[in-house]
Amino acid sequence: MASPAPAESELDRALSGDIRALARLLSLVENDSPRMREVVRDLLPRTGRARIIGLTGSPGVGKSTMTGALVGAFRAAGRRVAVLAIDPTSPFTGGALLGDRIRMQEHATDESVFIRSMASRGHLGGLAAATPQAIRVLDAAGFELILVETVGVGQAEVAVASLADSVVVLLAPGMGDAIQAAKAGILEVADLFAVNKADKPDTQQVVRDLRNMLALGPAGPAGWKPPIVTTVATNGSRDEGIAELVTRLDAHWDWLTSSGELRRRRRARAREEITALAFAALRDRVAGRADELAARVAEGILDPFQAAGEILALGCTRG
Ligand code: GDP
Repeated sequence: MASPAPAESELDRALSGDIRALARLLSLVENDSPRMREVVRDLLPRTGRARIIGLTGSPGVGKSTMTGALVGAFRAAGRRVAVLAIDPTSPFTGGALLGDRIRMQEHATDESVFIRSMASRGHLGGLAAATPQAIRVLDAAGFELILVETVGVGQAEVAVASLADSVVVLLAPGMGDAIQAAKAGILEVADLFAVNKADKPDTQQVVRDLRNMLALGPAGPAGWKPPIVTTVATNGSRDEGIAELVTRLDAHWDWLTSSGELRRRRRARAREEITALAFAALRDRVAGRADELAARVAEGILDPFQAAGEILALGCTRG
């Protein structure tokens, strides 16, 4: 039997600054349960105000360090910040991953910073579905900025990066990164580039390679040309390029809101989300019947269009 939905006071506590209640709520929405659906429905009217910033790039490029530096810079400006670290490859979840990292310890006792790791437990689809719900919870809880940090530059990371309003793609010297990023299709999703580890040689070469690669690629939306900021993330918000990156992120936000692009992106995201949910539900619902139909199509007894029609009809009529 499904357990009852949390009492309203529990939801209210989570949304009004009780960090433990917030952590429990996030655990709940990470699982696809009837309670999760109720919670998302109930908190939806309180969402829509947070700015979601995605950070992505190859492992080792400095995403975690940069996230820590950005948290420091936003906190210095008096803003409440949440971090979601998405790791599709790790079996760990529930905050252990990031909480253990030394770089974040300076923020560990700050109640205006909330840090959460989410891992896939082997289900990438599950993680992709759970992340928007976790973002909604943090948004409703009043975090002005939500930093979403992803591991790697594969297709999954591109998908997670597309959950953000502003996507920062990190590159660094000595990692063959610009070419790798181009292959993974990550250049197209970037709103801003940070060439990190600018204290190392060859930084300008990475910037040049990136400019050349961008010149070859498709033009982005009119009115915004992704800036390239060189950064050194290792000494927190005091370091080179971090303030400039924050300024450029603010400029991107201004552009998003004034051009109508924010509304367009959020609608496109909602469209992706509901379509994926609907397809997943349809797939579950028709799985058994699809096997039978597939066997008949393979044997030449049934034509594929009729089989597809039957599957769609099945999705519409049941449940
Ligand atoms: P992630 O895997 O992308 O999250 O990368 P990390 O943030 O864990 O950083 C990987 C390594 O690069 C760590 O040893 C960092 O201390 C180091 N690092 C991060 N930023 C910089 C930087 O700006 N300069 C230098 N020299 N090292 C950096």
